[in-house]
Amino acid sequence: MAKKKPGKEGVNWDYSPSLESTSHITILPKYELFINNEWVKPSSKKYFKTTNPANEDVLSEIAWANDYDVDLAVKAARNAYNDVWSKTTPKERSKYIYRIARLMQEHARELSVIETLDAGKPIRESRDIDVPLACNHFFYYAGWADKLEYAFPNQPMEALGVAGQIIPWNFPLLMAAWKIAPALAAGNCVVLKPAETTSLTALKLAEIIKASGLPPGVVNIITGHGDTGAAIVNHPDINKIAFTGSTNVGKIIQRAIAGTGKKATLELGGKSANIIFDDAPIDQAVEGIVNGIFFNQGHVCCAGSRLFVQENIAELVIRKLKHRMDSLYLGNPLDKNTDIGAINSKEQLETIEKYIKIGISEGAEIYQSTCELPGKGYFCRPTIFTNVAQSSRISQEEIFGPVLSIQTFRTVDEVIQKANNSPYGLAAGVWTDKGSRIFNLTSKLRAGVIWANTYNKFDPTSPFGGYKESGFGREGGLHGLGAYLKMKL
Ligand code: NAP
Ligand code: MG
Repeated sequence: MAKKKPGKEGVNWDYSPSLESTSHITILPKYELFINNEWVKPSSKKYFKTTNPANEDVLSEIAWANDYDVDLAVKAARNAYNDVWSKTTPKERSKYIYRIARLMQEHARELSVIETLDAGKPIRESRDIDVPLACNHFFYYAGWADKLEYAFPNQPMEALGVAGQIIPWNFPLLMAAWKIAPALAAGNCVVLKPAETTSLTALKLAEIIKASGLPPGVVNIITGHGDTGAAIVNHPDINKIAFTGSTNVGKIIQRAIAGTGKKATLELGGKSANIIFDDAPIDQAVEGIVNGIFFNQGHVCCAGSRLFVQENIAELVIRKLKHRMDSLYLGNPLDKNTDIGAINSKEQLETIEKYIKIGISEGAEIYQSTCELPGKGYFCRPTIFTNVAQSSRISQEEIFGPVLSIQTFRTVDEVIQKANNSPYGLAAGVWTDKGSRIFNLTSKLRAGVIWANTYNKFDPTSPFGGYKESGFGREGGLHGLGAYLKMKL
């Protein structure tokens, strides 16, 4: 049951629980590897458990692919590419992608509930954000598949061949869609590996792909741990690696593929700045801060985890923010009232708790929302730190949890300098009434995505990706399509 107690001002935010039903979903007790449109037992004979982080229940057992299984999947993809997919007309490709999108929509409720169970994210988010956006990616790229010569005029081009795709646990289905849809539209075949804690929606997507009649081997979904990902990266018959995950693993991948001729796009970590000027609409900006860092428990690569607020409104903004934090509903992710769900894994919760201790020991001032934590599962209260030094670890390192570090600024130049003082450069938010100031900042902030008077808004037509240690290459839009094509001129 979702837990909430009255905020400090005595406002009672308690609602009756409204649990999403799980009666319409099927989770098998065991999942094999999806290769050549068949369910194949792993040659490793090993399986690992996937759990619900909100109550620690085991949901299913998942096959653990080893080097041999990866080779099988890559061979399936190569054969499908040579024999079928490279000979399939763009119009037919388009129809398959469209059909996958439609089937995903038909299974939207099932996909949302499974995502919530496996990843711990609130049903409100999986239902209203992750799943619709994932469907929209397939729809969007279905539209381009037979119009590549309009997307890139006067450029003879061809598909790359076989793409190896490795994704993280924070947006499991959405990341699979970001990777598979443009790859297919550009005419490639795919071997995809989801993260070990969140394989279930990718495996549901495999069922959908099979039902869509996509030719065998065009999409292969193999599950496992980091070693499975490494085997994909190191396989000699892969033409491109598309990776989303941590900067550390991104660096390992870059070293591993150096000199091999494999193409790569790396979408890595972030420590994004959300900047509030004194002429901003304060209440909307406070909502934007909450959305920027507490949305999806802060498990968002582009989370607005550093807040810069203009000094003369800092006291007001922080007061309003604390008040809003006290109204956030933390608890069972299946409850439709829940704002803050479970942290994805025990390890991630330990990392977040470690950083909270670091923040305290660095001398920053902590405030956590007043909600109670459920007795079971991995939960973390929304947390903010004020009095944070620019050099402190909590303002420099990615925490990947609902923890915000707050600093103040006086001038535009000062905030640009502070916001850019980060090894990362994924996203930023600017809140102000002045259009000219928005354009000034967007041209000077070193971040791949900059939102103005909003935060964490995604759209399949818009490219997404980072500067500096946040990686290179773009996903989404035409940029994301071009990343799966070889231009011959
Ligand atoms: P991670 O540990 O780097 O894992 C990402 C994926 O890589 C997982 O599937 C993982 O498998 C696999 N992997 C682990 N070691 C590998 C290796 N040596 N070679 C190849 N693959 C390997 O990242 P995470 O903890 O899952 O995700 C959080 C990170 O992703 C954060 O840093 C976040 O900022 C970043 N992220 C970035 C974006 C973006 O678009 N820029 C989007 C979302 C997330 P296992 O999980 O099975 O170990
Ligand atoms: Mg899980």
